[in-house]
Amino acid sequence: MPVLQLEDVDVSYGKTQALRNVSLEVEEGEIVGVIGPNGAGKTTMLDSIAGYKEYSGSITYDGTEVSETSSGKLVNDGLVYCTEDRDLFPYFTVHENLQMGAQFRSDDGAVQESFDFVYDLFPRLDERRDQEAQTMSGGEQQMLALGRALMSDPDVLMLDEPTLGLAPVIIDDISEALERLQDEGLTILLVEQNSTFALRHAERLYLLEQGSIELSGTADELRDDDYIRDAYVGVT
Ligand code: ATP
Repeated sequence: MPVLQLEDVDVSYGKTQALRNVSLEVEEGEIVGVIGPNGAGKTTMLDSIAGYKEYSGSITYDGTEVSETSSGKLVNDGLVYCTEDRDLFPYFTVHENLQMGAQFRSDDGAVQESFDFVYDLFPRLDERRDQEAQTMSGGEQQMLALGRALMSDPDVLMLDEPTLGLAPVIIDDISEALERLQDEGLTILLVEQNSTFALRHAERLYLLEQGSIELSGTADELRDDDYIRDAYVGVT
C-alpha cells in the first residue's frame, strides 16, 4: 500500500478550482517529483496533504484520511512539510530553530542523533549555530528549513520548491543533501518548478498544470517526452 495516496482530489478557493481530480501515489522509500508552472496548484496540493485545506476526494497517509486527523498528529506520525516560505523563527538562532523541529520528540538521545546528522549534512549550519536565522543568506535559510524538518524525524518529507531563488552553487549543496537522504531511505515528495532539479532526484514524477495531473512517468520517460523537453527542460 502506498504510504501517501491522493484519489480524485478537488480543492477550490471560492469559485477558483485550484486542484481537480488529482490522483497520486508515493511508495515508501521513493522520491516522487511534482513539477509544474507558477499557479499550477503545487503548494495547494502540499497544504492539502498536510491537513491545512478542505478537499473532496481522498488523501491518505499510512492509510488514515488526513481530514480525519490533525496537522500536529500527522507531523508526530512522520509526515513533515518544509514549506516554500521556510517559516523560520527569525530572531532565534540556528540551533534554536533546529530545536523547534524536535519540540514534540521526547527521546533526548535520538534528538541528539538528529542534531549530529543535520550538522554533518550541512556544515554551514554547524559553523553558524549561534547566528540569528534572519541574518542568514537565502541558501543558508533553506538549509535551516530543511534541517529543521529533519529534526522532526520524518518518515515522509514534503519539500516545496527547495531550490527557489538559490544560486547554482547552493543548489548543488541541496542536491548533495537530497542524495544522502535518499541513501538513508527517506521517502520524499519533491515539488519543484525547477524541472531539471526534480528530474535529477525523483524516480517518478507527475506534471501538474492548471490544477490537473497532465502526465506522469519515470524520470527517464519524462526526460524523453517531447512536451516536457520543450516546455519545461528547454534545449540542453
Ligand atoms: P507557485 O509555484 O507560484 O507557488 P503553485 O503551483 O504552488 O504556484 P498554488 O499556490 O497552489 O500554485 O495556487 C494554485 C491556484 O490557486 C492559483 O491560481 C492561485 O492564484 C490560487 N490560490 C492559491 N491560494 C489562494 C487563496 N488563498 N485564495 C484564492 N486563490 C488562491
